Amino acid sequence: MLVNMLKGIISGEIEVIDLAQPLNEQTPVIKLPEPFSNTSGFKYLRLSNYDDAGPGWYWNDFVAGEHVGTHFDAPNHWITGRERDGVDTIPIKNMIGEGCVIDVKEQCAANPDYLLTKEDILSFEQNYGHIPEQSWVILYSGWGKYGQDPEKFFNIGLDGMPHTPGFSKEASQFLANERDILGVGVETVGTDAGIAALFDPPFPNHHYMHEANRYGLVQLANVDQLPPRGAIIIATPLKITGGSGSPIRPIALVTR
Ligand code: MN
Repeated sequence: MLVNMLKGIISGEIEVIDLAQPLNEQTPVIKLPEPFSNTSGFKYLRLSNYDDAGPGWYWNDFVAGEHVGTHFDAPNHWITGRERDGVDTIPIKNMIGEGCVIDVKEQCAANPDYLLTKEDILSFEQNYGHIPEQSWVILYSGWGKYGQDPEKFFNIGLDGMPHTPGFSKEASQFLANERDILGVGVETVGTDAGIAALFDPPFPNHHYMHEANRYGLVQLANVDQLPPRGAIIIATPLKITGGSGSPIRPIALVTR
């Protein structure tokens, strides 16, 4: 059976979609206001390039935050999940799930502060069926197309705040507590809206998801290539001991 899957991948009957944004020194990273610490982003440290430091080989070190570029949020990333799993202790089978892709890109184009509602979720279920166990619920905002354009990606307003879409508090509570999901996926820099620091509680998606031992997939690319249901998404963080997250190269398997 699994060998047939491989045959399907070779023949193209099963399409493999790359859900990662390029990872480099230009990759947009979250910027928290004073007095909070910020991530270093991604930096190459050149070791050798077929030169005196290594005449026959090219290699680099790199510096990267756990939450840089396309990445995984573990439950211990948030204070509500502080006693829960880090990337190294999450059961490995929880890194594979079905994508449930909720398309709100028109709402987000009209209002960059759009918050996915519980009604959006229920309407998705009316059209495509109950969100199954072991699924990734993907907020399809359309933001992935701005992944390499920091100005549009962050969409900083006159108020100095980023204006990017996210989940309402009610939608976050509903997904965390009423559906047996692995977690959520987004195209933006975090699983909460740009202005979610002002919400009660602050960053409600992080708050409720991680409290319920669920995960986040962040800064996804090519979400527009996913069907509403049926894609198998594999997202494996690095096994950083005690890590709160990790850059990932998630892939989706899709049949058309
Ligand atoms: Mn993160």
